[in-house]
Amino acid sequence: MIKTRITELFNIERPILQGGLMWISLAELTSAVVNAGGMGFITALTFPDPESLRTEIRRCREMTSRDFGINLTFLPTLRPPDYSSFIQVCIDEGIKFIETAGYNPEAYIDHIKSGGITVIHKCTSVRHALKAQEIGCDAVTIDGFEAAGHPGEDDVTSLVLVPLASDALRVPVVASGGFADGRGLVAALGLGADGINMGTRFAATKEAPVHENIKKTLVEHSELDTSLIMRTLGNTERVLRNPSVEKVLEIEGRGNATIEDIIPYVSGLVGKAMLEEGDVRRGILSAGQSMGLIHDIPSCRELMDRIMAQAEEVIREKFLQVLTSERGPETG
Ligand code: NAD
Repeated sequence: MIKTRITELFNIERPILQGGLMWISLAELTSAVVNAGGMGFITALTFPDPESLRTEIRRCREMTSRDFGINLTFLPTLRPPDYSSFIQVCIDEGIKFIETAGYNPEAYIDHIKSGGITVIHKCTSVRHALKAQEIGCDAVTIDGFEAAGHPGEDDVTSLVLVPLASDALRVPVVASGGFADGRGLVAALGLGADGINMGTRFAATKEAPVHENIKKTLVEHSELDTSLIMRTLGNTERVLRNPSVEKVLEIEGRGNATIEDIIPYVSGLVGKAMLEEGDVRRGILSAGQSMGLIHDIPSCRELMDRIMAQAEEVIREKFLQVLTSERGPETG
């Protein structure tokens, strides 16, 4: 059992979070993660309107008696949502945890907090993490350059970002980007984090509600198979390299590309169809470098049992042995 400020904050047994995955963090996945002792977040923007999110929250309650969270992402989007109404649904439905991401949630923090909700903000730099702490966020997830989705524009890896964030912040820090196993969990704790956040790893689990081809693709591809798109728009996204991505890179490479030029390839609705139908050549699939560490499709419980067992083994075998041998031989 590993107890940290994050297990205390979320009242969970394991310091493992499933962050919001567009179209994937539905009730099936999130309930499986919380039932296995972690914290999961249903992604609000997956739903066309707040009432559909309410229905999903209620569906998730039927799958677990435990608390779970909602992800609210503030990034440029083709379908600007009514954030306040999404927040009100969370409050009305008794949600205790919200993961904000993308842009600082200052404009919404009072509304969220009026519902007594604990906020963890996911960001990609120490300066953004400090801002999140200053406006009242209770914890921060820090996304290293390895991460899937939007890893920011600074290109600093988790190995550097996590200790810098841990040093700079009073609130608990969750390490994200490149984490997929128990070794990563121990490393994150060693770097000063209070837990890990995983996205790509959770997309390749039995409960992830996506086509089997998507899961197989994550298993079969390696850490070398991601690309960064939308750099030229200042909205970098790390994704699985496929023909759609190569087309986007070609358009961006011509110079002066606009979002309109690439909409047919990057639209979330095309990505949604890919996840449902399994044609991994068409659309954008967010994927992190941690793909190289994914070799199977376990249930969330199997995965999290394995992560905790491996973490405990690493601590026992590497650290305790080193500490014992450093004491030197017993003398009479
Ligand atoms: P979408 O169809 O609205 O947009 C497709 C992609 O284009 C997204 O990556 C979006 O950020 C980007 N985009 C849209 N308008 C843009 C603009 N004017 N300038 C630059 N980039 C622009 O996306 P979606 O799949 O329906 O997702 C909705 C929102 O939720 C998006 O902002 C998405 O990035 C975000 N989200 C991201 C993550 C993650 O980091 N993995 C998770 C959940 C949600």
